[in-house]
Amino acid sequence: MTRREEVAADVVAGNRILARLNVLDGFGHVSARHPDDPNRFLLSRSRAPELVEASDLMVFDLDSNPVDGDARPPYLERFIHGEIYRARPDVNAVVHSHSPSVIPFAASSVRLRPIFHMSGFLAGETRVFDIRAHFGCTDMLVRNRAQGAALAAELGEAGVVLMRGHGFVACAKSVPLAVYRAYYTEQNASLQRQAIALGGSVTYLDTDEARLAAATNETVVARPWELWKRQVGLD
Ligand SMILES: [Zn+2]
Repeated sequence: MTRREEVAADVVAGNRILARLNVLDGFGHVSARHPDDPNRFLLSRSRAPELVEASDLMVFDLDSNPVDGDARPPYLERFIHGEIYRARPDVNAVVHSHSPSVIPFAASSVRLRPIFHMSGFLAGETRVFDIRAHFGCTDMLVRNRAQGAALAAELGEAGVVLMRGHGFVACAKSVPLAVYRAYYTEQNASLQRQAIALGGSVTYLDTDEARLAAATNETVVARPWELWKRQVGLD
């Protein structure tokens, strides 16, 4: 297998895994930076994540234009990916999701914070991108480079940014780690809501705890990745 084929297989697996884990449904996407050219990335044509196959992957430049004359319809929100790859040389994979537990934290003044060790990558308070603050009234989608760049700026050096009235983005140095972060962002949001509903005070991981937990979990992400691939029929 070439490196490109390996990364393409990871993108396919990531799409199917996150669909099975209810982080993606008919919408959302997973991409990877092209292993042979850092100024390009791999992203499916406009298709439901659970159905994505390697042959669906298109190659885009960092302006989010398809290359090689590929005329298949792309995702409207491909600019999320292109602008994050441009802004973050350390990022090699991006997930965009509308998963339900996260949405309240993108709408509320209550910030998403790491409630357990699995989501240590959420260290601190997760930032929220409000497209209206930059672009006025829109249909909420990230449809062009300027909107993608504003989202990437809000992300900063973090692994996750929420999007008001829309969803979130998770990114990482590899597809398995970006998938891990997307899944545990959804889990954290659900658990945090339950902790708040108990009515007492909530103690989150402090920044140092979160960073230590995140560093540990990065070393073992291959374990859930192997399981998740098996669960979607990929080895
Ligand atoms: Zn979206």
